[in-house]
Amino acid sequence: MSCVVQKFGGTSVATLERINHVAEIVAKNKQNKNIVAVVSAMAGVTNKFIEYAHSLNGYEGNPEYDFIISSGEMVTAGLLSVALNNMGIKARSYAGWQVPINTSSNYGSADIESIGIQNIISDLNNGIVPIICGFQGIDKKNRITTLGRGGSDLTAVAIADAIKAEICDIYSDVDGVYTVDPNLYFKAKRLDKVYYNEMLEMAALGAKVLQEQSVAYALKKQIKIRVASSFVENGGTIISNEIPTRKFCGIAITHNLVQLKVFYNNESLDIDSLLRKHFIRIDIIKVVPYKISFFLDRKKLNIVKEILLKIDNVINIKQEMIHRHCSRLSLIGFDLKQKDFEYVLSLMSSNNIEIFCCSKGKYGINLVLLTEFLFKAIDILHRNCGL
Ligand code: ADP
Ligand code: ASP
Ligand code: MG
Repeated sequence: MSCVVQKFGGTSVATLERINHVAEIVAKNKQNKNIVAVVSAMAGVTNKFIEYAHSLNGYEGNPEYDFIISSGEMVTAGLLSVALNNMGIKARSYAGWQVPINTSSNYGSADIESIGIQNIISDLNNGIVPIICGFQGIDKKNRITTLGRGGSDLTAVAIADAIKAEICDIYSDVDGVYTVDPNLYFKAKRLDKVYYNEMLEMAALGAKVLQEQSVAYALKKQIKIRVASSFVENGGTIISNEIPTRKFCGIAITHNLVQLKVFYNNESLDIDSLLRKHFIRIDIIKVVPYKISFFLDRKKLNIVKEILLKIDNVINIKQEMIHRHCSRLSLIGFDLKQKDFEYVLSLMSSNNIEIFCCSKGKYGINLVLLTEFLFKAIDILHRNCGL
């Protein structure tokens, strides 16, 4: 029988009623497929634990922090297992270490190194639904680790790869990937298909619907993902290696940017590549010998400072004053050329939208602009770029 991994995010398991509903989805799908479920903490729970940890000065990097913030997933896995057993479906819960999901010791955003699949396979052979806590792993020091915010997506994709599942379903509160966050722009359109690299770009540049690391893993291992809603049955969006026929696919937004200037004493230091390895994207404003100036998502400020200050060659980091209300708009598409970039810039200038900084990659065009012009820009791009 074919096998599918189904991951249920925080809003999908936010209440006991929602957990019972998720149990119904699993029960229905189990009729013709083997199901492995991966669950997040109930909505808001991880945020609460992070608040608790912070108020006692527990921060990312400390294994106790991971121990605290990983605990929400345990409750959901247990509850879903009970709900399924109540329906007469055999199920059992697994903490990350019980699987086991072996990770690096990079507490707060650990990498998955290997997964033991014997327990899962044995459950499937015995008609049992394994319910795995997302977001959690265990390192060689026998400490619990976490996989970064939104890390249950990564758990699901990595499990799908390990057990050779036919697809990894990510259930959320949206019925697919849209041209832009549908909670931000009501005319956003749902996409049927998105190419891996486009999704990676979207996730990296602010679309929260999938965790960036999970998309990078799916791309590397060629795992097909379906983003769907646990609230309505509606097909969803497939993320795969199918080459798109259209040019542009969507827009990702990052609000609340900060500007940093970094001074260093080794000319060959490549700060952009270094930060990318940590899944941090920056918009470069200027690089001159021994100095780089860039825009950054304010949420990543502390982690970036921490990474940079560990480098011997970094001498000083300065936070610049920028206009408080700047956002980054990233237009994502396939195989973007210089002429596409010029077209987008001309659209902005003919509509009197000032761009403070811009850059172009193969799959994305990034524009930093005043937040007050954001909706106008989103609208113009939808009307002129086939979104
Ligand atoms: P979960 O808790 O299920 O993991 P998330 O909150 O992480 O769900 O992701 C779903 C949210 O992603 C949606 O509520 C939506 O606001 C946001 N989102 C951002 N960009 C997009 C997009 N392009 N398409 C769909 N949803 C998006
Ligand atoms: N509960 C974790 C978080 O809120 C992991 C996840 O939801 O995917 O980040
Ligand atoms: Mg999520």
